[in-house]
Amino acid sequence: MSRTGIVPTVAPGAATAPGTASGQAGDAATARPAVDRCPGILRLHDAGDGGLARVRVPGGRLSRRTLTTLADATRLGNGLAELTSRASVQVRGLPADAAAPLVALLAAGELLPSRAHDRVRNVLASPLAGRVPGALGAAHGSLGDFTAASAHGSLGDVAAASAHGSLLPTDALVAQLDAALCADPALAALPGRFLFALDDGAGFVDVAASDVALVAEPIARVPGRSAGADPRDAGGGDRAAGATAGARFRLHLAAIPTTLTVEPGDAVPLLLRTALTFLTLRAELAPTAWHVADLPDGAAALAAALTTALAHASSGRSLVQETSDRPLLAPGALIQADGRVAITALPPLARLDTRQLDGLSELLVAHGLDDARLSTARTITVPDIEADRADAVAAGLRALGLVTTPDSGWRGLTACSGAGACRRALVDVRAAAAVRATQRGPQAPAEHWSACPRRCGMKRDVAVGIVAGDDTLLMTRAGVARGEATDVEHALELLTTTDERPAA
Ligand code: SF4
Repeated sequence: MSRTGIVPTVAPGAATAPGTASGQAGDAATARPAVDRCPGILRLHDAGDGGLARVRVPGGRLSRRTLTTLADATRLGNGLAELTSRASVQVRGLPADAAAPLVALLAAGELLPSRAHDRVRNVLASPLAGRVPGALGAAHGSLGDFTAASAHGSLGDVAAASAHGSLLPTDALVAQLDAALCADPALAALPGRFLFALDDGAGFVDVAASDVALVAEPIARVPGRSAGADPRDAGGGDRAAGATAGARFRLHLAAIPTTLTVEPGDAVPLLLRTALTFLTLRAELAPTAWHVADLPDGAAALAAALTTALAHASSGRSLVQETSDRPLLAPGALIQADGRVAITALPPLARLDTRQLDGLSELLVAHGLDDARLSTARTITVPDIEADRADAVAAGLRALGLVTTPDSGWRGLTACSGAGACRRALVDVRAAAAVRATQRGPQAPAEHWSACPRRCGMKRDVAVGIVAGDDTLLMTRAGVARGEATDVEHALELLTTTDERPAA
């Protein structure tokens, strides 16, 4: 932080900020409806296939018990739960009389610790938090022995693009933040889309989507510290525990890095203080703002307000963020810094049914594992697997219908609930998607199948869209109509022949 205050190191509007297309601070505030209708457990969304409950999962962590609870929740609906791009879970197809039992069930199952804070427990963290080794090249090399004896196929792409490994653990901080959020009645007023993020330094967290984030970075990048303090110079140190002493968290506002860094012990108080300051500014300047970027002057306004709110000042100066591509979490396995294994799996269509949720819980129990972790890539990671059990866990995930290799055509493929789960369905989109998954490559553009014109879950500009109507299936590319098919078979045929054709 400069002597005069916390400074965003990129001009507002220079980076894409959450909730806006351009990142222009304040742009979206006037466009927001006065009432935030973001769904939760207590406020269901009336979707085409029935009531939809959005269940927040701080840090994406689902324990054995919460997995079982979610399985029971799906029994109240149409048997399906879907993973969201914010690492939450949506329970679908709920009839009106399921609302009260759902609340009771999820509250008893540790998924609704505070009714007042139902929709504000939005906390992203890496499924691999504190576990990614510093020298990924070495980690990949050691995967050779593991993969040679396994049936996983190509593993090890999980962290291929990570610049360095985990610098600071975040599991405990996520739990502390969740508890502190729920303990503060004032923070129940946060918008349902306001997003916290904690990145352990490995880069797997979608900080660009967050309102307030803390990102671990080597301490050598903080001015005034010696280069020798860089954990990358220390030859490993306590990497086996997935943490380094030579790192701090940097505060990011609306995805823009600021000059303020803190020790882990100050992380949760800073996040809470930042959220409270946002609420104060929101009340004064933009009562319908959902995000930091919605405030007039966005991150700069919040940084300035924080400067007066914080009791201490850091000794840092303004830094320009190093630009790097964020690594993507793909299906596969990673040998953790402590030698254990984390396996990431992809549920086809980003969806888990009752059987799969129960099965996941049973798999954790069978192998003595604590939890499975959701990511914004709509994957599930099972960390902390002893190496001699990794093959069995991977086999168990595949037996549940999950994909454990990165070369799957299921990546980027989604569909609505469809036949058997929604009475409006005109075609069986899930069966169609299963065929389509065999035709597509893992790098194919995002594709969504809708079983009726209501287009549940379909982005307006999805790269490839297929929408069933009474007589035909409409095919779109980037939101533009590109043809009609007489039936599902015809649509599959047309898709394979027009996959690479540019838009007219
Ligand atoms: S068929 Fe699909 S798109 Fe239509 S209402 Fe049901 S879930 Fe929504």
